[in-house]
Amino acid sequence: EKTNETFEPIAIADAASDEDLIWNISLQARIDAALASGEIYLVFQPKVDVATGALIGVEALVRWNDPARGHIAPDQFIRQCENAGRMSHLTRHVLTHGCLAGQELQRACGPVPVAVNISATLLHERSIVRMVREVLSATGYDPRLLVLEITETYRIADLDRAGAILAELKALGTKISMDDFGVGAASLEALMHLPFSELKIDRLFISRMGSDPKAMGIVTNVLHLGKDLGITVVAEGVEDQKTLQMLRDSQCPVAQGYGIARPSSLEDVIIFQGLASQSAA
Ligand code: C2E
Ligand code: MG
Ligand code: MG
Ligand code: MG
Repeated sequence: EKTNETFEPIAIADAASDEDLIWNISLQARIDAALASGEIYLVFQPKVDVATGALIGVEALVRWNDPARGHIAPDQFIRQCENAGRMSHLTRHVLTHGCLAGQELQRACGPVPVAVNISATLLHERSIVRMVREVLSATGYDPRLLVLEITETYRIADLDRAGAILAELKALGTKISMDDFGVGAASLEALMHLPFSELKIDRLFISRMGSDPKAMGIVTNVLHLGKDLGITVVAEGVEDQKTLQMLRDSQCPVAQGYGIARPSSLEDVIIFQGLASQSAA
């Protein structure tokens, strides 16, 4: 069942260190086959309006269900994809299927933006701009409904270059989001230099809001920062109602987390939207 999110990820070896060519070639082949066969697929997690509970977006998250090894967590195989030189291949796949899902969602629920995760390492080359443009034109998806969540911003080596590339992506009509804000280096520097319209506070801070006044202080101030900069703040990793209430009290605009909805099939998101709009009304 593709909607089951309670699996224990299986650890697999990292191909980077030993640079074993044979291993890499077979890894490339496995990744390509898994993409083609649907073993690698997407789930979607709702982003909701904190005040009303209404669905205001979804994030596409990649999953790999390998018949031999079971579920492999993205944190593990994304690094492997990179090592095997398959990151752009995976990203094109995720973008394409994200846009197609976005169109299906639009037919069922109206215009709900779809967010796709883009590894910061892809911002070193302009080919990402061509890829996004090609996927948008191949799928016919409305660029204004596509959000690009930039992950691992600390890995951006050249902020000027990344800024120029993001400006081109933005010019296509897409929105740029900064993922995992607050963890890793260079967060504020990246926020200053790059054209973000959304920032996602890492769940590290959200999960501790209730128990740690420092975490609470950081969240409150990031909310102010977002307001000052005209950037929408999303709270990641909201696991319970108490946290959601604290976010509501702090006037956080958008939230996402297991306590609201788990990553699931598109069908489940559509059902969620129906229920959320009933209770919001
Ligand atoms: P992320 O983009 O920050 O995504 C949020 C992660 O937190 C997801 O893990 C999601 O399932 C999980 N999550 C959501 N709500 C909660 C919660 O309430 N509690 C807890 N404990 N976790 C929650 P996931 O799907 O395992 O993805 C991990 C990371 O892998 C993502 O972090 C993202 O950086 C990366 N990733 C996922 N899909 C893609 C992709 O298609 N491309 C790229 N480049 N990276 C991806
Ligand atoms: Mg993300
Ligand atoms: Mg995140
Ligand atoms: Mg993360």
